[in-house]
Amino acid sequence: MDTSPDFLLLILSSPSGAGKTTLTRMLQEKFDDLRFSVSHTTRRPRATEVDGKDYHFVDRDTFESLVESGAFVEWAEVHGNLYGTSAAEIKKARENRACGGMIFDIDYQGARQIRAKVPDVVSVFILPPSMRELERRLRGRASDSEEVVQRRFLAAVREIEHYALFDYVLVNDDLQRAFETLQGIVFAERARRFRRAPIAEALLRGEKHR
Ligand code: ADP
Ligand code: 5GP
Repeated sequence: MDTSPDFLLLILSSPSGAGKTTLTRMLQEKFDDLRFSVSHTTRRPRATEVDGKDYHFVDRDTFESLVESGAFVEWAEVHGNLYGTSAAEIKKARENRACGGMIFDIDYQGARQIRAKVPDVVSVFILPPSMRELERRLRGRASDSEEVVQRRFLAAVREIEHYALFDYVLVNDDLQRAFETLQGIVFAERARRFRRAPIAEALLRGEKHR
């Protein structure tokens, strides 16, 4: 995948219910130049979800033909449904000069695939403060059936086992504190030397940056 140092690719992963959708929304409000990568999925929409905004909801046949045509930079089966990140969406964001990066809400399998293609991607794994609290949050969402809640809860351990694939591990106990840590990660990553080198070099050449 084509990369440029000042375009931030930020992956957020967690077991279902740990709070990544909530934290992603907060990040989008704070950093209006970060665009959310809208995935394709074969999962049915929840009552509050909007097609094209939360996901592109498609059937299995459509998803499989997108896989065959190479439309996804990564895709995986998660909790019995297929999910994928569209390459075209990333390309469009890169071409938009007002866009400074993208946020990916994807699982560890997708994180592993993107990391293999883009070495400077930044990845964050979000942990719940306890398994009991994770179960409470999964139930509290109230949009999923008991069977779906149980399936996701049982999958949580397998997902947590993959925490070592990530650059940062964040515990989402107090929401505001977790958000402040996440903001700190974005600020720090944007100040990495390799991202800021073009500005320093332009100053040294006596050029005005931007
Ligand atoms: P995910 O996207 O990881 O599945 P969500 O963001 O949908 O998780 O969060 C699951 C539920 O937990 C939601 O009802 C959300 O409001 C709640 N929640 C998220 N973070 C916290 C927190 N720090 N404390 C209490 N509840 C939280
Ligand atoms: P949900 O159904 O709760 O929206 O998401 C279930 C899981 O699928 C979450 O772990 C979420 O991060 C993951 N997911 C969502 N979109 C994608 C995607 O495009 N690719 C991959 N690999 N996982 C995704």
